[in-house]
Amino acid sequence: MIPPPSPSALRQLTDVPALRAQVRAWRAAGEGVALVPTMGALHEGHLSLVRQAQAGSRRVVVSIFVNPTQFGPNEDFSRYPRVLEADLALLTEVGADAAFLPDVATMYPPGFATTVTVAGLTDVLCGPVRPGHFAGVATVVTKLLLQALPDRAIFGEKDFQQLQVIRRAVRDLDVPVAIEGAPTLRESDGLALSSRNRYLSAEERRTAPALYAVLQGVAEAVRGGADTAPALAEGRAALEAAGFAPVQYLSVNDAESLAPLERVAGPARVLAAACLGRTRLIDNVAV
Ligand code: AMP
Repeated sequence: MIPPPSPSALRQLTDVPALRAQVRAWRAAGEGVALVPTMGALHEGHLSLVRQAQAGSRRVVVSIFVNPTQFGPNEDFSRYPRVLEADLALLTEVGADAAFLPDVATMYPPGFATTVTVAGLTDVLCGPVRPGHFAGVATVVTKLLLQALPDRAIFGEKDFQQLQVIRRAVRDLDVPVAIEGAPTLRESDGLALSSRNRYLSAEERRTAPALYAVLQGVAEAVRGGADTAPALAEGRAALEAAGFAPVQYLSVNDAESLAPLERVAGPARVLAAACLGRTRLIDNVAV
């Protein structure tokens, strides 16, 4: 006879009724629930989100879903890393309570016709470079939040624009979930951990930390309220000299509205997207 799973075992849930039944059971037992949405290929950055979730909630659900609707036609959906067994081992190790593993038909059944779009915040930065991306993100995250109905959901500041888009959608639609940001985890040389880093060649990997160095340099230069334009021009030239091509954007933006800033007066962020070979890297720092 197969023994029942121990209380600490990672539960694997693939459909919405099973997810809801599990969350309902935890709730009935007086246990708080946090959700960490991911696309898998988990690394220490994802695990730091799980630990933040565990610090405030008794139960943590991690979703793994490579969401097709947030990839453009020429992006890396088909080659996005899918390493489920390794992901489940990491989630077991970190002590997550459940992995929610829906398939595409569960998330987008035939006839699916509803999209969540967030205006304004998506007109800048990654928005124009990746048309449709944030509608895909906002729609899938809204679904995940309504499917699980956790108390809290944790998202990385690594994807700062995504975090702001999600905060706005959740606020505008009265989704009853607290959205929390989590700091970016980095390699010792400054490169932000990312599932896409595994695409980098050895030479690209040596170049990649220049992105964080430039962001820090710009943040330092504009902190006192100096014009942002000269620091941004210098930073862009440094990225191009290091081998990034193209530099899609390097920008100083209001941390709340994401409006581009000519001078910093309140909370602001320096954000960049730039390619090394076929790999697109994004990163940002607080000013
Ligand atoms: P992804 O699987 O890339 O969609 O990321 C899932 C979540 O992990 C998102 O909220 C990301 O912002 C977050 N994340 C990705 N990389 C990092 C990192 N280096 N540090 C902290 N959070 C991260």
